[in-house]
Amino acid sequence: PATSLDQIVALAKRRGFIFPSSEIYGGLQGVYDYGPLGVELKNNIIADWWRTNVYERDDMEGLDAAILMNRLVWKYSGHEETFNDPLVDCRTCKMRWRADHIHGVCPNCGSRDLTEPRPFNMMFRTQIGPVADSSSFAYLRPETAQGIFVNFANVLATTARKLPFGIAQVGKAFRNEITPRNFIFRVREFEQMEIEYFVMPGTDEEWHQRWLEARLAWWEQIGIPRSRITIYDVPPDELAHYSKRTFDLMYDYPNIGVQEIEGIANRTDYDLGSHSKDQDQLNLTARVNRNEDSLARLTYFDQASGRHVVPYVIEPSAGVGRCMLAVMCEGYAEELTKPIPTEKLTAVGDALQTFLKSVGRSEKIGGEARDAILARGEALQQALTERLPEVEQLLAMPGADQIEVGKKLRGQVQPLIDEHYRTVLRLKPRLAPIKAAVFPLKRNHEQLVTTAKAVRRQLQVGGEMRTVYDDTGAIGKLYRRQDEIGTPFCITVDFDTIGQGKDPSLAGTVTVRDRDTMAQERVPISELEGYLREKLRA
Ligand code: ATP
Repeated sequence: PATSLDQIVALAKRRGFIFPSSEIYGGLQGVYDYGPLGVELKNNIIADWWRTNVYERDDMEGLDAAILMNRLVWKYSGHEETFNDPLVDCRTCKMRWRADHIHGVCPNCGSRDLTEPRPFNMMFRTQIGPVADSSSFAYLRPETAQGIFVNFANVLATTARKLPFGIAQVGKAFRNEITPRNFIFRVREFEQMEIEYFVMPGTDEEWHQRWLEARLAWWEQIGIPRSRITIYDVPPDELAHYSKRTFDLMYDYPNIGVQEIEGIANRTDYDLGSHSKDQDQLNLTARVNRNEDSLARLTYFDQASGRHVVPYVIEPSAGVGRCMLAVMCEGYAEELTKPIPTEKLTAVGDALQTFLKSVGRSEKIGGEARDAILARGEALQQALTERLPEVEQLLAMPGADQIEVGKKLRGQVQPLIDEHYRTVLRLKPRLAPIKAAVFPLKRNHEQLVTTAKAVRRQLQVGGEMRTVYDDTGAIGKLYRRQDEIGTPFCITVDFDTIGQGKDPSLAGTVTVRDRDTMAQERVPISELEGYLREKLRA
C-alpha cells in the first residue's frame, strides 16, 4: 500500500486521474474533476457496486432521483434543523475550522484564541425561479437517501415488492464542509452509493448484521481485505438523530489515518415516519416532527397480520471518492524489479550521507525541516535497497532543495530508480481504468502498427474492455506507464506475430504480459479475447 498520500496525489495528477476543479483560475477549494483515467476507475467502482447490490440480488430495485427537491423534504428529514457542524473561528489568523476536527488549537497558526463553537448548516442553497425571496430557494441535496424515502410509495406501487426489499441509488451530494481537505477524502461535491433496505420492524437488528457482512464482502471483492477495515460501532452519544445503531467501516489512509469509508445505519422508522401524514395512527417508534404537509402515508400492507406497518430501514452508505482513494492507496506499490548492483548502492549510500551532513550544517534550512530531513534520511540509510524511491521523496521535502549536494544525489538516484523500480497500481482487474494496452514492437514498421491497431480494435468491440494502443516509447517504458495506472495486460505485436520472426510457428500470436507477475505468455490472436475475459473476471 501507499506509505504517503503524496504518492497518490502525485500519481493522480501525473497520469490524469484527478484534477483540481477550475485549476486555470486558481481552483475551487474542496472540488475536484475526474480525468480520463479517473472517470473510468470511478465508473468501474460504481458499476461493480450496482452489479453486486442490484443485479446479483433478488431483493433490490434501482432509482435515480433528482438533486433538487422540494424544500419540505429537508424540513421533515430533520436536515434544516440538525445538519449542522460546530464552527469555530481563529481570532489570530482568521481561519475557520470545524470544531470536532481540531483540539482547541488552530492547525494553521497554533493559536488557542478561538471563538466558541456555533452551529453551521452544511446544506448549499440555490434559488429557484426568477424571484429571489424566502420562499423561492432550494437546497442541493446533502445525501441521496431522501430521494429514496420520498419515492418509497412509488417504487412499492410499481414493483409490487414484498418486505424485505431495498432501493439502491448512486448520485451526487453536496455539503458545505467548513474545512475540506485531504485531497478527495473530504470535499464539497461528491458522489454517494446508497441503499435503503426496508424490513419488518423487529427484524432490523438481524438485517443490520447481514448488511454489515454483505458490505465487508464487497469491499474485499474490490480489493480492500477485511483485515484492512476497522468496524466502529458508533457509541450512543455520537449517533445521528435518526439512528438506533450505526457501524462505520474505517480504512487506514496514509497521513489521514483511520477514517470512515462507509456508514451502515439502522434508521428505524424515522424516515418513512417523518415524511408521512396521519403520523399518530402509525405506531411509530421513532420520535418525528409533526408533519402537516405530506400527502402520503409511507406504509406497507403486511398480509400476514392484515395491518399497515411503517418499515424499518437499514442504510449502507458509501462515498465513491473515498472508495476510489482507498482502492488506489491499497493497490499502490513502488517495488524493485531487479537487484541493483552493490557498488551502485554503496555510491548512493555515500552520497546520501554527504547530503545529510550538509543538511546538518546548513543554515538555510529551518530547525524543524532540518530535523525532519535528518530523521527520514537516517531511517532510509538503514534499508536503502528496498526504499530507493523514498530518496526522491526525501529530496522533495521542504528545505532539501536548498542544498547543492541534493542535486548530485538526485542525479545518481534517478537513473537507478528508472531502471530497477516500478510503480504499480494493483487494482482488481475489474476496476482497472484500462484493461489492456497493445504495442507494436517498432512504431515505424507499417505491418506491426496495423496489426497492433487491429488487435486493439478487436478487443474493444462490445465496449466492455477499454483497450488502448501506444507506440510512444520502448516496450519497457510502455510497460511501466501501464503498470502505474493498473492496466492488467500488455500485449505486444512483434515480428513473430506477423510471420517474419525466427519461429514460424508463432505467426498469429502475441505476447501477453501480466501486470502483477510480469510473466509473459504467447497467445493466438484468435483466442485473445476469451483469454483476457476469463482473467478479467477475477
Ligand atoms: P464524516 O464524519 O467523515 O463527515 P459522515 O458521517 O458525515 O462523514 P455520512 O453522512 O455517513 O458521512 O455519509 C455517508 C458516506 O458519504 C461517508 O461514509 C463518506 O464515504 C461519504 N461522505 C460524506 N461526506 C463526505 C465528504 N465531505 N466528502 C467525501 N465523501 C463524503
